[in-house]
Amino acid sequence: MAGCLSGPVVGPVVGRFAPSPTGPLHAGSLVAALASWLDVRARGGRWLLRIEDVDTPRCLPGAAETIVAQLAALGLQPDEPPLWQSGRGALYQAALDRLLAAGWAYPCGCTRREIEGALAARGSDHRRFGERVYPGTCRSGLHGRPARAMRLRTVDAQGAGIVIDWCDRRLGAQRQDVAQAVGDFVLKRADGLWAYQLAVVVDDGAQGVTDVVRGEDLADNTARQIHLQRLLGLPTPRYLHTPLVLGADGHKLSKQNGAKALDTGDPLVALRAAAAVLGLPPLPGATVGEGLAAAAAAWAAAWPAEPAMA
Ligand SMILES: [Zn+2]
Repeated sequence: MAGCLSGPVVGPVVGRFAPSPTGPLHAGSLVAALASWLDVRARGGRWLLRIEDVDTPRCLPGAAETIVAQLAALGLQPDEPPLWQSGRGALYQAALDRLLAAGWAYPCGCTRREIEGALAARGSDHRRFGERVYPGTCRSGLHGRPARAMRLRTVDAQGAGIVIDWCDRRLGAQRQDVAQAVGDFVLKRADGLWAYQLAVVVDDGAQGVTDVVRGEDLADNTARQIHLQRLLGLPTPRYLHTPLVLGADGHKLSKQNGAKALDTGDPLVALRAAAAVLGLPPLPGATVGEGLAAAAAAWAAAWPAEPAMA
C-alpha cells in the first residue's frame, strides 16, 4: 500500500466535492464525486458540495444547478446546501490580509512580458504546464510600479525554499520543493479574481474538511495548499487523488476533448462505470441505493483511512 501515514481518523469525517461550474458533470468528474461520497459514507461522515465559481469568466450560467440535479439523480445528495465561492470574497480577503501582515504575501507589479524577460535574462526556460515559474522580482518591493497581483512567498525569511512532504492515500509519499517547482504563486489575480489555491484552502478550513478526495490532475496543487494551510494555522486534511478518465487524445477527459454531459437516465450504468475506474468490484444491486451501499462497503475495504505501513 502507500507506505506513508496520512493521519488517523479522529472525530467525524467531512468530505467534499468541489466542481467548477464550467459545464455539466461528465464521466470523469463523476469519478471524483463518487469517490468522495463513498469515502464519507464508508465512515459515517458528512458530505459537502462546494461550487468553485471564483473564476467567473469561465463559469457557465446554469451549470451549477445542472450538476446539483445530476448528483441528485445519482443518489449523491450533499448533507448541506451547496456553498458558492463567489459569495465568500470577504473571507479570502481576510486570509490575504493576514498573510500580508505576516510578510508572506506581497504585491507583484510584473506583467507577463516582464516575467518572461526576467527569466530569459537569467537563462531560465523553466516552464510548468505552460506557465513560467515566477522569478521573485517583487519580493523586494514593487520598484515604483503599481500592484497588479498578490503573490505568496515560497522562500522563508532566511532564503530557504519551502519543501512540503505529504502522504497521499493512493499515490503514497509525495514531496515538492515549492520554490523550485512552482515559485511564488498568485493568491489574487491581476484581474481582481481570487486564485483557486487560496479559495480552496480557506473554504476547506472553514468547512472543517477532514478528507480531500479529488482527481489526480489536482495532486500537484497539494503542496501549495499545505504551505497555505500552515501559514493560516489550518489543519491539513488527508488526501486521496483518484484515477483519471482519459479522453481520446490521452489527456484527462474534459469538455475540450469531447466529454459529453453525463447521462443520468439510467443512474446505475453511470455509477457502475465510475466504480470500475475506482477499481471497485462490479456493482451489484437493482436499485441506486443497493448499488451505492455495496460500493461503500467495497470502498471501505479498498481504502482504509490510515494506510498500513509497508
Ligand atoms: Zn512581480
